[in-house]
Amino acid sequence: MHEVMLAAAYLLASLLFILSLRGLSSQLTARNGNFYGAIGMAMAVVAIVVATDNLALPHVLAAIIGGALVGSFLAARVAMTAMPELVALLHSFVGGAAVLVGLASFQAHFGGDGPHLTQNPVLLSEIWVDVFIGGITACGSVVAWAKLKGLLSGRPLLLPGRHALNAGAVTASIGLLVLALSADPGQAWTYLLAMMAISGLLGVHLVVAIGGADMPVVVSLLNSYSGWTASAAGFMLGNDLLVVTGALVGASGAILSYIMCKAMNRSIWNVVFGGFGAAPTTKAVAAVGEPLAVNEADVAGTAQWLLDARRVIVTPGYGMAVARAQHAVREICDLLRARGCEVTFAIHPVAGRLPGHMNVLLAEAAVPYDIVMEMDEINGDFIDTDVVLVVGANDIVNPSAETDEDSPIYGMPVLQVWHSRKVVICKRSRASGYAGVDNPLFYNDNSAMLFGDAQASMAGILQHLKAAD
Ligand code: NDP
Repeated sequence: MHEVMLAAAYLLASLLFILSLRGLSSQLTARNGNFYGAIGMAMAVVAIVVATDNLALPHVLAAIIGGALVGSFLAARVAMTAMPELVALLHSFVGGAAVLVGLASFQAHFGGDGPHLTQNPVLLSEIWVDVFIGGITACGSVVAWAKLKGLLSGRPLLLPGRHALNAGAVTASIGLLVLALSADPGQAWTYLLAMMAISGLLGVHLVVAIGGADMPVVVSLLNSYSGWTASAAGFMLGNDLLVVTGALVGASGAILSYIMCKAMNRSIWNVVFGGFGAAPTTKAVAAVGEPLAVNEADVAGTAQWLLDARRVIVTPGYGMAVARAQHAVREICDLLRARGCEVTFAIHPVAGRLPGHMNVLLAEAAVPYDIVMEMDEINGDFIDTDVVLVVGANDIVNPSAETDEDSPIYGMPVLQVWHSRKVVICKRSRASGYAGVDNPLFYNDNSAMLFGDAQASMAGILQHLKAAD
């Protein structure tokens, strides 16, 4: 393909990726965003296939078809609750691919009778950066996947002198590059493999040091790393589109991580260097001692409170996703609105198990977008609300985040549901949520626990509301 046409195809694909990101920033335009992204990627693949001489087309096609089949199968089967695990696993593939491309680039340029390393220090440095970030991303993502899947404990593993270990790993990797620059290719290859092992260990160490409640930021951060590693691969391969695409992914992942850190009142640097969630997560539970009394509600009583209410806010959390109760919740919302009640949804930025988890579920259930409010928009409204229906949420409505300085989630902004006249908390037990801390909200005078599976409870409430119509 002519150079100019290739450049034009790359430019167009880059624009489509930018449009895709823009589309994905709102539920209303997310479908279009996905579409632009898919077209951009198809265009990029076709352009590179057409432009490459002596391409082993059957191999490429086999890889594309195989990848598409596995990807479609995984995407079709994955439950929304398991999406973060899948995302983490996919990031590990990006990191692994970058490492393999880096190793292949080294062999292609410096293996056999290739030029001496000193003749191309820039390329060697690019390979180093690519393999280093790729190794961190691949191994860190596998650990994040194992933690989210419950194969590894969610508790942070804090080795003594962990910051020194991290700094040592970075310094050793740079040192190996310096050595490689003046070594013969055979030795440099050994240094490269050693650096790859160090970066993998660093990835593992960075992620095992992070506690369960901070995993969302880690997943988003690994997303950012996977972008930067692709960008580094772009420099290494001299592929402008890969540089741009990687930078888009890297920057958007970093921005999302920053937004999430703000939402959880965390410093991004602490996430990067690990050690979050280190505070003992059992303290709040232990401090309670004998179980305190809670007010219990039943579906009939809850339905009556809702019928009497002028203003209702629904606060969904992870339990709604597990129970797949969003459709019943939407029907409840429709019935109440038809009776003239003002119903809105309060969405915490890290409700559920991945950013935007609740928004996706509510969109799937056809809840109108204009009644779905972000935390900052709605926190001031609870005081003027008759009933808050908390559906399978826990950490995101925990007042100890504001009051208990010893709580592991202290400082995380939460939905201040307790300011409303009545709070009904629908969950199966008094068990803690993801962060493993007790929730004083359950014991408030204006709180009532509606024990049971969210799907069954919402269906029960719905039945009573229909009967009252
Ligand atoms: P939580 O995990 O705090 O609480 C969910 C609650 O749902 C549990 O306490 C559980 O109680 C209840 N539940 C589970 N299954 C059901 C069911 N079938 N029916 C009814 N209730 C059920 O979730 P939140 O959404 O409140 O908070 C999210 C937490 O997850 C935060 O700590 C956040 O940091 C973390 N996180 C967020 C990610 C993100 O990106 N959004 C990613 C990873 C972690 P019970 O067992 O008693 O029913």
